[in-house]
Amino acid sequence: MDRVEEILSKLVERYGDSYFRDDPYRVLITTILSQRTRDENTRKASQQLFKKFPTPESLANAELDEIEQIIKIVGFPKQKAERIREVARKVCEMGGVPSQLDELLNLPGVGRKTANCVLVYGFGQNAVPVDTHVHRISNRLGIVSTSTPEQTEREIMERVPKEFWVLYNIVFVRFGQDICRPLNPRCDVCPVSELCPSKEE
Ligand code: SF4
Repeated sequence: MDRVEEILSKLVERYGDSYFRDDPYRVLITTILSQRTRDENTRKASQQLFKKFPTPESLANAELDEIEQIIKIVGFPKQKAERIREVARKVCEMGGVPSQLDELLNLPGVGRKTANCVLVYGFGQNAVPVDTHVHRISNRLGIVSTSTPEQTEREIMERVPKEFWVLYNIVFVRFGQDICRPLNPRCDVCPVSELCPSKEE
């Protein structure tokens, strides 16, 4: 087993490998709402939003004020309300959420992380969504040596077999929230400390 596979196997032992797939429209909108906020807030806001606007058509025709009220818990309600309504309108014009990376990247304000989340969690494709946890931990563990999430995505795709890409995202996000945190990583209880060149004594 190579080092990356060993790391993944230890993290799967701790965090499992299950994940939730959803409708691509819901994944797309939820990922936009999740920017710069806590998961708990995203969950609450998206539940309310989809109750009121279950389809791209209904969201595309909604009043901005109403969207803002519903999603205010996620922060930046004005910008996010404008963004998700614009995305919903574009999705309606396209006849549905596209399943190709380049088309997703053409949606207003959709970057690589969001697009890759839609591919993985909406369409069940192999892709590597790189958020702040995946970027930080990949560098700490020396799997990549990069300064931007885009470079990290590229290096992971080169170094990690395709069948592990989705798993890589799932376990690294959970690991980053729990142990390998941005500040004060809990190296003393880390299940992969023996494989980590950045371990803090
Ligand atoms: S040893 Fe510390 S820095 Fe390395 S992966 Fe574990 S928690 Fe992160």
